[in-house]
Amino acid sequence: MSTTTDILDTDVAIIGGGLMGTSAALALRRQQRSVIVLEQGWCGAQASGVNYGGVRRQGRSASQLPLSQRAHTIWQQLPQIIGCDGEYRATGHLKLARSESDMQELLAYRDMAASHGLVLEVLDAAALRQRYPWIGERAFGGSLCADDGHANPRLIAAAFASAAERAGARLLQQNAVEQCHFDGNYFGLQTRAGLRVRSRFLLNCSGAWGKQIAQQFGEVIPEQPIYPNMCVTEPLPPIMNLSLGVVGGGFYARQVERGNVVLGGGRGTGNLALQGTRPRVASTFAALGHLVDMVPVLGHATIIRSWSGVEGETPDHQPVIGPSAKVPGLLHAFGFCGAGFQLAPAVGEVLAELVTSGESTTPIDAFSAQRFATQ
Ligand SMILES: Cc1cc2nc3c(=O)[nH]c(=O)nc-3n(C[C@H](O)[C@H](O)[C@H](O)COP(=O)(O)OP(=O)(O)OC[C@H]3O[C@@H](n4cnc5c(N)ncnc54)[C@H](O)[C@@H]3O)c2cc1C
Repeated sequence: MSTTTDILDTDVAIIGGGLMGTSAALALRRQQRSVIVLEQGWCGAQASGVNYGGVRRQGRSASQLPLSQRAHTIWQQLPQIIGCDGEYRATGHLKLARSESDMQELLAYRDMAASHGLVLEVLDAAALRQRYPWIGERAFGGSLCADDGHANPRLIAAAFASAAERAGARLLQQNAVEQCHFDGNYFGLQTRAGLRVRSRFLLNCSGAWGKQIAQQFGEVIPEQPIYPNMCVTEPLPPIMNLSLGVVGGGFYARQVERGNVVLGGGRGTGNLALQGTRPRVASTFAALGHLVDMVPVLGHATIIRSWSGVEGETPDHQPVIGPSAKVPGLLHAFGFCGAGFQLAPAVGEVLAELVTSGESTTPIDAFSAQRFATQ
């Protein structure tokens, strides 16, 4: 048994028990590396466990598509990897257009995505309504990614953490990392609970708090917290058999097998220091309005719960993934700008590759911390 004055030695220390941290822990255990995950609260209780659950490649930037495609392959193997499917369903993702110029955007995106092996089918208004009669007159057309889908983040985040622990990673929850330093060979971490950890590698997977960890090493990476607003309706008869989005945003929605429609759009509010978030009534009603505009049959749906969560956003809306620009052995994976749920299984594998070989087999240059380095 360790006392608070012992130093725990490990190959890799990971700050953050969200999906990035636990998927990395799992991948590293497969490479026989010893791993300690330090989580200030409970694993998966922040963004990874409270997000919308969109498992979507459509709409991602060209730079993210190789990583997203890699993740897509892993999502198909979830039961073998984490022991359950986490209610992952490849039901399709339909992005709606509200105007001719939206349609042009969807067509241009389809052509770009094809060069990354992502097949999208663009439907005009008539084809759209024939296939999905529940979509209203307001929709001008849409783009379907037939094998995108959605999953239950509460199940997925917990399952990755449990799988990492079963594979031999140590998950030390209620252990906020307060101090970290690098002595030229080893990282030294100290938690609020008094635990001390020494490691050869350090993974900064601390989500919206990633900037603060980077700062402890004198590395300035711009990141600000965002609080996507979420809500869910009462259980309804089956209506929507896929996940919906819209060009220009406003709402995204999916119906789960129990019948509830999960709906996102707009922003809530929160306090990073207190680790607390709140939904906003105005955002909930605005998102509902946008949804009903496209799916009028939901006009009488009752919202039964709303919530928010915190995520890190960077100025160029791309995450930071890869080596620190300042400290050897420090690897970052944070700032996913509200879109890291789908990517997480692939990010974990990439981090494990960077630890074991120093190279990622999937291109990640666009996410380099170096892009924000001032000198
Ligand atoms: C409401 C909402 C909806 C979203 N919808 C989608 C979606 O539909 N599809 C999609 O792809 N993405 C979505 N996202 C984004 C996705 O949830 C995130 O990109 C992803 O979960 C980020 O994982 P993470 O591990 O980096 O962060 P987190 O899950 O936030 O994990 C970081 C962890 O680090 C811990 N931590 C921080 N500082 C310290 C410290 N000093 N010591 C110890 N631990 C620390 C935190 O407590 C936290 O648990 C959404 C996000 C939100 C908030």
